[in-house]
Amino acid sequence: MDFVDKRVLVVGGSRGIGAAIVALFADSGARVSFTYSGSREAAQNLAAKTGATAVQTDAADRDAMMATVREAGPLDIMIFNAGVLVAGDPLTLDPDAVDHLIDVNVRAPYHASVEAARAMKEGGRIIVIGSVNGDRMPFPGLAAYALSKSALQGMARGLARDFGPRGITINIVQPGPTDTDMNPADGELAEQMHSVMAIKRHGTAQDVAHLTAYLAGPHASGITGAMHTIDGGFGA
Ligand code: NDP
Repeated sequence: MDFVDKRVLVVGGSRGIGAAIVALFADSGARVSFTYSGSREAAQNLAAKTGATAVQTDAADRDAMMATVREAGPLDIMIFNAGVLVAGDPLTLDPDAVDHLIDVNVRAPYHASVEAARAMKEGGRIIVIGSVNGDRMPFPGLAAYALSKSALQGMARGLARDFGPRGITINIVQPGPTDTDMNPADGELAEQMHSVMAIKRHGTAQDVAHLTAYLAGPHASGITGAMHTIDGGFGA
């Protein structure tokens, strides 16, 4: 993979899948910056290890996030990875927590994508990390998360039409259970998740990063407005 001198921004890159994406692009010669909100130490360690630049920006703060996207640009590649999970009975869930989830998982990727595209040249790539839960939700308690990941599908289809004439693509990567802090492979729900998978194990953040890199690479210029699922058959 060769991304020498490409300007890459990973929104939400301090841990998990985002950190794997930062490491892969940095290893491939890109000039990477990434944002984080709370995990300062993880962000600093990752920056020191990869040479990437860490910027503290809360994705839920629209104006701050858009300013960070502008300052990191003009970008060749923008990957929006930040996401939060709120689980529980919708009748008792804190509505503020649900609204925060929508801020981070829906409003932020929309505004970041539009802001990144504003200054992108032909060949620009926008990739947003969704979830197989945008397609399938076999468990109770995750309706807000599922709605946020389904929303990304409509966003990608629409923005593909808006930016296609400028040679800019936008795609959604939809992981299934992936071993991170959000969803540890040895967590208490792991067995339940594996029971609906064709390949009964968590995937790795590195595998998701490689799919992202393919979509950002030279052979993917004709792929846009599409969902790319990497889920061990969770949704099969
Ligand atoms: P983690 O919880 O391990 O990491 C989440 C990352 O998002 C962290 O770097 C975190 O940074 C960042 N982030 C969260 N909120 C904000 C915010 N307000 N502003 C900026 N950054 C933020 O999650 P994963 O790596 O597992 O998930 C990454 C993406 O993949 C998410 O969109 C998630 O929905 C999706 N996904 C994950 C799956 C899984 O099984 N793990 C399955 C399907 C999809 P910080 O700690 O600094 O706030």
